[in-house]
Amino acid sequence: MTALSPLVIKFGGAALADGGGVGKVCDVIEGAGERVIVVVSAHKGVTALLEECAKKAAGGSLDTDEVRVRHRGLLRELGLNPEFLDRHLFELRQILVGIRHKGVLLAGELDFVLSFGERLSARVVAAVLQGRGKEATPVDAYDLGLTTDSCYGKARPLPGVAASLRESLAGIPGVPVVTGFLAKDGGGNLTTLGRNGSDLTAALVAAAVGAQRLVFFKSVKGIMSADPRVVKGTHLLEELSLMEAAELAFHGADVLHPRALEPLLHSRQQGCEISVEVRDIGRPEVCGTRIGGVGRGTNVVGVTGCSRLEGLRVKSGAGGGLGALFALMHAHHVLPRVLSTSAEGVCVWAPEGAGLDGVGLELREQAQVLAPVASVAVVGGGAKAGAEAQRLLAQAGLDVSFAALGDDRASGVFLFEPGQGARAMAVVHRGLFAKVGV
Ligand code: ASP
Ligand code: MG
Repeated sequence: MTALSPLVIKFGGAALADGGGVGKVCDVIEGAGERVIVVVSAHKGVTALLEECAKKAAGGSLDTDEVRVRHRGLLRELGLNPEFLDRHLFELRQILVGIRHKGVLLAGELDFVLSFGERLSARVVAAVLQGRGKEATPVDAYDLGLTTDSCYGKARPLPGVAASLRESLAGIPGVPVVTGFLAKDGGGNLTTLGRNGSDLTAALVAAAVGAQRLVFFKSVKGIMSADPRVVKGTHLLEELSLMEAAELAFHGADVLHPRALEPLLHSRQQGCEISVEVRDIGRPEVCGTRIGGVGRGTNVVGVTGCSRLEGLRVKSGAGGGLGALFALMHAHHVLPRVLSTSAEGVCVWAPEGAGLDGVGLELREQAQVLAPVASVAVVGGGAKAGAEAQRLLAQAGLDVSFAALGDDRASGVFLFEPGQGARAMAVVHRGLFAKVGV
């Protein structure tokens, strides 16, 4: 039986990419002591592969070969029985047959198809641990009582999940290896928490059991001052407050799910401080970023953004459009990243795929769809940093279509034509950190 556990560790898909990766993950789990709960993502690329399978099935073609070959290859590499996952793969195929037959893919069905990624990886990791003589149990998070609303593709946990998770986990023998990303709604239908949702699962589990520590193992050093794939000269952020990390994730830093830290903020309000770490699976002994504590005070934390935001303009006074806008955003789980108001009405922007298009459709003629934009957000440093960023952008000749300088809580945010986002991020990052130092 797992007593209330002091340590929750989450492994992302990149850490579990191949047999070698799974082996390293299991080394870390073995070295983590007895009171540990593991949360896993699907093996790298599998969620995208499953999405493709589901869409192809709806279009009339059935092809699960790649998913099967990938998992069988992994099992072989790990010295496990290559037929070990066949029952699940067969179930997946049956579901795809059904989708092909109907010729349409409903959002709930897509979630069901995607669920195989984590269901399979949890079983692989648990089997490797068992093979090493360590007691481990693969568990589907929904069997632990992780229940959500029915907003497929980005479902939200219902109140009360913490108690269910806590009670169910206490009854799991050995190390629980929990599927990230997955849940079920009140009617028992499979739901998912949104891409990168395993981070959120891990945070929910950590908050539920009152973990002392939550460690996210990634394939990157930690949280950086900007996305190193886009910006040169970034540096590692060794210490961040919970709010700073949440703000970075909220504005686009995809190293963590945008809402992953919410359960931890909630825990803190209840007096339970969970220390959070982001570590690189390549150097598991080194703590990359420690999240908690006071953070960087009034200094600039980092620069992030979204490469594509969708926007809507809704006129005030037009048949209750504004009230409907906010009610619909709530119903569709759309949290706008940027919002501007004028006598004419309100403009809102949210990342592509977040559901703002659905809100626009429901508002019909009350809403006008705006051209997509890229955003750059300056996290930390208040309005002063925002003003400096604005100066840097003007100096570089970048066309800002909207600017909010931020304050001591909100980040400064700038919008551009989509093609200018990456350059804008680099300009702001270079300029701000050259000036204030690191
Ligand atoms: N497997 C899901 C994804 O690729 C969830 C996750 O990795 O956290 O988004
Ligand atoms: Mg991830």
